Parts: sequence; structure tokens; C-alpha cells
Amino acid sequence: MTPLLEVEDLRAYYRTEVYGISRTVRAVDGVSFQLERNEIYGIAGESSCGKTTLIKVISGTIKPPLRVESGRVCYHFEGRDVDILHTDRDELRTQVRWKEISYVMQGSMSVLNPVRRIIRTFEDIVGTHQGIPDRRAFLEHVREHVKTLGLPPDILNLYPHQLSGGMRQRVAIALATIFHPSLIIADEPTTALDVVVQRGVLQMLKDIQAESGNTVLLVTHDLAVHANVADRVAVMYAGRIVEEAPTEVIFEAPRHPYAQHLIQSLPVIGDKSSKGSLSGAPPNLANPPSGCRFHPRCPHAMDICRQRVPEMLTVGPRHRVACHLVEEAA
Ligand code: SF4
Repeated sequence: MTPLLEVEDLRAYYRTEVYGISRTVRAVDGVSFQLERNEIYGIAGESSCGKTTLIKVISGTIKPPLRVESGRVCYHFEGRDVDILHTDRDELRTQVRWKEISYVMQGSMSVLNPVRRIIRTFEDIVGTHQGIPDRRAFLEHVREHVKTLGLPPDILNLYPHQLSGGMRQRVAIALATIFHPSLIIADEPTTALDVVVQRGVLQMLKDIQAESGNTVLLVTHDLAVHANVADRVAVMYAGRIVEEAPTEVIFEAPRHPYAQHLIQSLPVIGDKSSKGSLSGAPPNLANPPSGCRFHPRCPHAMDICRQRVPEMLTVGPRHRVACHLVEEAA
């Protein structure tokens, strides 16, 4: 089956010039992956690894100093293909965003207007992207939509500040799904929520995905969230995907040393042994290390790691790894 999204060798850099000194931050540098239909795909990695830049590009919200240097980002929606890097901005805004690709951000206040009742925000979004020829039918549809998602319709008359953080995030998800988009991009959707509320928000995302069969791209540094929700997980390090696999595979048998470190660092109930930490810090992407970008911190680094970028190899069903150790073993 045709994937929903194909990303090929994407390179997206921030180019700035201050006092005549130019600087290029290679935030996404050679990323390729596909999103299938009807799956939750997780992207993991520490902050500044390129996750947010990647979703800016694939959602078509590219603003200077971010520039796409090369690569391809192509969606295959029902009945039409959209090359996101070569589609008119107005068309993206009116025909693609919200209707086909919607976005749930960290902190719902970025989408909710603090001085407008919730229903007015629904009105703004639906009015802009579809129009509201029949107000009574619109109100009925929104009430039904929020009810289906387990929210009391009365919240539509409230202002955002009258809701808890978890409830606001649920409203943000209701807004993001009002057009039943093919793809929901959720960027750290549960950060800043307590664990119990987090669980409710994640369950809501899971239920929506299972019900509608759409795709969710879940971006979070929190591996426990991926373990609970995602079907497949990609681990990013310094602007590149270093490993991608079905969730149970990556958690049970990660092959890339960085993925191994992340997973071994997860707390286990009853295990009080100290978890070793990695030496060094993530690299400066304005001046990344040669070869494998993880080599200055990798306990298995070899000469070749400093010289050559490891290729992404398929090592099992839907399992890919970029590491010279794996290349050697193969
Ligand atoms: Fe470590 Fe080399 Fe593999 Fe990079 S390529 S993760 S440095 S062994």
C-alpha cells in the first residue's frame, strides 16, 4: 500500500548572519522515512536533535532562517499527492493544514485564544477552512464531535482559563481532529501534564487513531510515552535518524549504541542500580562531528566512525539502523 508520507534525504538548515559572520545549523541532515496509514509513529531523541525542525518541514511551516536545502517530502492523501516543498503556501494553509494534516502542540494555549470562548475557536478554524453556511448544523456537529471524544459539550461555552491543563490539551486535540485529518502531528503533547492526566490525553489520541484509522506522528523525548502508544519508533540523534523499528523490537533489542543507551536508562520498578550516563554532550549542529555524529560519545567508536557517515541498513522487518558496528556484523 502507498505510504501516507515519504520523506527522502531531507536536509533543513538554519542559516543566519550576524555582524557579517554566517552560521549554518544542520538541524535535519539526511533524514529518510515513511509514515504508513493507520499507525502511530514515534520520534524520540533528546532536545535539539532535530525533531521539531523535522515536523516544521513536514507540516509545511518553514520560515526563515530555516531553509530546506534538499530532499523530498510527499504526501499521498486520498485521491491526490501533495509535494509539500513545492506547494503554494495559500493552498497549504487552506487545503492541507487542519484538513489533511493537523498539529497538536505542547501547551494548548498556542491554539486557544485566551479571550474567546472555546466554541469561537472552533468557529474560527472551521470558518477559515470550510466555511459555516449553516450555523445550527455547525454547532450540532461540534457538540457531537466533542461528545464523541468524551468531553462534556458545555465546555464549548467556557474560556480556556476556566479549564485545567489536561482538559485544554484535550480540547486542542478535539480542534485538531474536527476535519478528521489523515495525519495528526503531536509535538510533546503531554509535557507539563502530570502522569495521570498524561495517561488520559494519550489514551484519547490512541482512541481517535484506532477509531478513525488515521496516522499519528508523535514527537516526544519521553520514551515511556512511545512505549505505551507508538507502533513504530525512530530515534534521532544530532539531526539524523539512527534507528527505526517496531516499538517492541526497539525496546527489546535496540542495535544502535545511542538507542541502547536511551532504553537502558529507562527506570525499572524495583531496580535501584545506578544507570550509567553518556560522556560528553550532544554536538553543536553548527559544527557537527565528522562521520557518525555520535562518535565522540560512543563507547564502541572505531576509526571508520570518525571518517564515514554510516549508511542506514535494514536489519529486520521494518527495522533500520545506521551504525558501522551493524555494517561490520552484516
Ligand atoms: Fe558508535 Fe561507530 Fe556506531 Fe557511531 S557508527 S554509533 S560511533 S559504533
